[in-house]
Amino acid sequence: MMRQVNLKVDMVPKGTLGRRVVRPMSPRYITIHSTENYTAGAAQHSLALKRGTLRSAKTLHGNRIGFLIWHFTVDERMAIQHMPTNEQGEHADFDGPGNRLSIGIEMCVNRGASLSSTVERTARLTAVLMKRNGIPLQNVVPHYHWPRRGKHPPNKNCPHFLMDNGRPGAKWRGFLGRVNYYYRQLDT
Ligand SMILES: [Zn+2]
Repeated sequence: MMRQVNLKVDMVPKGTLGRRVVRPMSPRYITIHSTENYTAGAAQHSLALKRGTLRSAKTLHGNRIGFLIWHFTVDERMAIQHMPTNEQGEHADFDGPGNRLSIGIEMCVNRGASLSSTVERTARLTAVLMKRNGIPLQNVVPHYHWPRRGKHPPNKNCPHFLMDNGRPGAKWRGFLGRVNYYYRQLDT
C-alpha cells in the first residue's frame, strides 16, 4: 500500500517556521483538506512550508504560531510528509481540537493534474494512517467538520470538491468508501 502512496519524507526542520514550537499530539482524527491555489503540486507546497512563505496572522483566536503547517500534501504522483504525526499542525481550527488532535492532509488541485489519482492516493494514505494510529473511519473528517471560532461561515467548504453544496454529502461518503476499501485490504 505504501508503495502506491509513494511517500517522500521532507520535514520542515524541527525548531523552525511551522515547527518552531513543538507541541506533542496523540492523533485521534485525520482531517482532509484541499488546496485552492490551483497552481502548485506537493513538491511546491513542501518548498513553501520550508521557506516559511505560508504565513498567517497570529491573533488571539487565530493561528497560534504565525505559520501554516500540516502533515502531508498529496498530488497525482506522490505524497510528501512535512512534520511528524505526533506533533500538532496549524491547518484546521486555530486552538480547537482539529489542530490539537488531528493529522492534516492537503490534496492538491493544481490545474491539469488528475484529481482522481490524487483522491485515490489520499484514500490509501488515510487508510495507512488509520491503521498505524488506531483511528476509526468515523474520525476521518473533512476540514468542514471543525468550526473556526470567529470566522464566517465557521465551517469551511473544504475539501471543496468533495462537499455537496458546501457540506458533507454523497461525495464525502464516496471518499470514505474508498478509504474503507483500502483499510480493509490492510487487514488481510
Ligand atoms: Zn482546509
